[in-house]
Amino acid sequence: MSEWSLGYEGFEPDREGLREALCTLGNGVFATRGAAPEASADDVHYPGTYAAGTYDRLKTDIAGRTVENEDMVNLPNWLVLTFRPEGGGWLDLRKVDVIEHRQELNLRTGVLTRSFRFGDGEGRVTHVMQRRLVSMAEPSLAALETTIVAENWSGPMQIRSAVDGTVMNSGVERYRRLRGDHLVPVSANAVGPETITVVVQTRTSRIRVGVSARTRLVRDGERVPAERRLVRNRGVVAHELTVEVQEGTPITVEKVAAVVTSRTPAIYEPGLNATQSVARAGGFDELLERHVLAWDQLWQRFDIRIEDSERSQMILRLHVFHLLQTVSPNSIDLDVGVPARGLHGEAYRGHIFWDELFIFPLLNFQFPALTRTLLNYRFRRLGEARWAAREAGFDGAMFPWQSGSGGREESQTLHLNPRSGRWLPDNSRLQRHINLAIAYNTWQYFQVSDDVDFLRFRGAPMLVEIARFWASMATYDRARDRYEIRGVMGPDEYHDGYPDRHGPGLNNNAYTNVMVVWLLCRVIELFERLPDHHVRELWETLHVTRVEFDRWEDISRKMVVPFHGAGIISQFEGYGDLEELDWASYTARYGDIHRMDRILEAEGDSANRYQLSKQADVLMLFYLLSATELGQILERLGYELSSEAVSRTIDYYMARTSHGSTLSRVVHSWVIARSDRERSWELFSEAIESDVADVQGGTTAEGIHLGAMAGTVDLIQRGYTGLEARGDVLWFDPALPKELGALDFKVHYRGHRVQVRVTPSQLRVSAIPSEEAPIQVGFRDEVVELQPGATVEWDLPA
Ligand code: BGC
Repeated sequence: MSEWSLGYEGFEPDREGLREALCTLGNGVFATRGAAPEASADDVHYPGTYAAGTYDRLKTDIAGRTVENEDMVNLPNWLVLTFRPEGGGWLDLRKVDVIEHRQELNLRTGVLTRSFRFGDGEGRVTHVMQRRLVSMAEPSLAALETTIVAENWSGPMQIRSAVDGTVMNSGVERYRRLRGDHLVPVSANAVGPETITVVVQTRTSRIRVGVSARTRLVRDGERVPAERRLVRNRGVVAHELTVEVQEGTPITVEKVAAVVTSRTPAIYEPGLNATQSVARAGGFDELLERHVLAWDQLWQRFDIRIEDSERSQMILRLHVFHLLQTVSPNSIDLDVGVPARGLHGEAYRGHIFWDELFIFPLLNFQFPALTRTLLNYRFRRLGEARWAAREAGFDGAMFPWQSGSGGREESQTLHLNPRSGRWLPDNSRLQRHINLAIAYNTWQYFQVSDDVDFLRFRGAPMLVEIARFWASMATYDRARDRYEIRGVMGPDEYHDGYPDRHGPGLNNNAYTNVMVVWLLCRVIELFERLPDHHVRELWETLHVTRVEFDRWEDISRKMVVPFHGAGIISQFEGYGDLEELDWASYTARYGDIHRMDRILEAEGDSANRYQLSKQADVLMLFYLLSATELGQILERLGYELSSEAVSRTIDYYMARTSHGSTLSRVVHSWVIARSDRERSWELFSEAIESDVADVQGGTTAEGIHLGAMAGTVDLIQRGYTGLEARGDVLWFDPALPKELGALDFKVHYRGHRVQVRVTPSQLRVSAIPSEEAPIQVGFRDEVVELQPGATVEWDLPA
């Protein structure tokens, strides 16, 4: 392992799923898991290729109901490549003697290499070296190069290079009883001497997908003619090449593939365009050169260097790498969102959640055009969100907890507890706070980018419609002269209702209520900030009235926030009255208790009965809002929150959170970044291991956790530096944990590239020379003007 590579020694069937997910290669348009090319889906391997935004819905009868699920579709597998000595068996590492096996993901170049040697039952020893890429430069192309050396044998060898259109969605075991046969074969043919093309169509969304592969043999830099046979078998098409191999002489198989869907812009027909793309593509080395250049340029922007351990540095880069594989400059202007589990697996079916909240802040400062693309995904679904609000009896727009193709609610209605084997109602859609995440992201994007056009035409309608939704959900309680929000769930998914009450939903989730006030204040501010004619147009098109505006103002001053004990903010009304969980006894009995909800349900109990949280909920407030902002909101509401009460609230939830979501440690680490640097660093160190070490014991194989990945990088970039775009100033207030020697990164701020270096004793901020107007940079309460090409430095107190 180095700072730029993730390496694995040995072939370990048990770890293969995890490695496949972590070695996924993608380009923001499509991605392919790091599965062995010779493998098909079985109990060890799960090849998967997914294109952003390519979804399909299927209905299944289960537990006495018909449920419909929308999946990000596993597309035809372009990777298939295997070989055998004539008369021998096709390559299967479980059936041969693996002498050595090494796999390495190079993060700098985006190339996955694999090298292995094996001996077969006939005493033949063969060495194989593979390199693969999914082109960051040409977003429909991918390539696999395989060099084979027969170390101690000679003779005819057969090589099979296929495109498999018969794949299904079956990557997540607990979904396997639900249908996953999304692909309907259209054609599978040879389309030229070297090229095969498979065309399929998704079953109900009818997206056409064309996957082509061109296979060539090369020896000593020269193309080698080979006898070729076409093998076609219902949706799978293969070229079988027979070639004479000589002991010790390498032979290289070069496979160049293209994936085109009917959602790809600027095409005629997916099959035709895929075929054309591979016909026009250069060889592996040519593709590699352009691909490496594209990655190099991305790293110029995104790299964040820390002086700590080689491992932490590598993991941070791995996190940036996987983010950029899911969303990249190739995604700009595509209608795609950012799935919580990346394009890396089928967990959560490729749906888009509030995890954006942990991803956009990083993109905002590195590549705001990407945030804009992803916010446009939401904007285009505003109509659907309006409809959803209306259907639920509310005004404005209600975005879904899980979003996929068209923006309707895609959360499942039933979920399986693998521990008890029971199908249970899934009420997670009551997490209406997703709407606050969208609003918050919209506002933050504007703060960093100053993109007034976006704000006026896309951001403002979303902010207003979301505010309007909350205002219609809020009910006025005359007795306490306060507004309430009833029947929701907060981010903590362990609580979906009260133990003694029928029906789901909780009242006055503090996170939700406070963030609603934050949003109403932003909408009020928006109307003050935008030029009058814009405001007039917005009021006209959205039918805002004075009466409505006054109600928003009123709610923003009278929303209820629940407290219990000595000034502890209650997660929701009644949380403080729930029973305490006996943590020690559960830890002793079960060891890993991060999914306490499943444990309790399997015991016939319910997480709803306990003061126990899956993840940060109240503490989200301290994550998203500065102490000043939160203080101002509570003051506006007539509540007081002393700094002692803040500490007590943080301690209280720290002790009651099981971190059943990888997002949780990111938030916990962040909120104590200043008050307890040591513990914060510990939590950060645990958070960065989430995927690399698969801390949840098996979930990473089903897809990476993009929120935690981006969130940990953001924790370094913003959390420990105090970086913030507030007002018209780029603020800093570093508080580095002592383990973090120094850090260097660049941010993009209002047209400038700003280079930041923080050490324990100094903060240095430089603007790269440009023609842009100077910017304001602040440290604590001092603000200075920074000219392009200039540097400011501050000494940091010890
Ligand atoms: C978490 C949610 C998150 C989702 C997708 C769940 O386990 O509780 O907060 O949005 O995973 O990552």
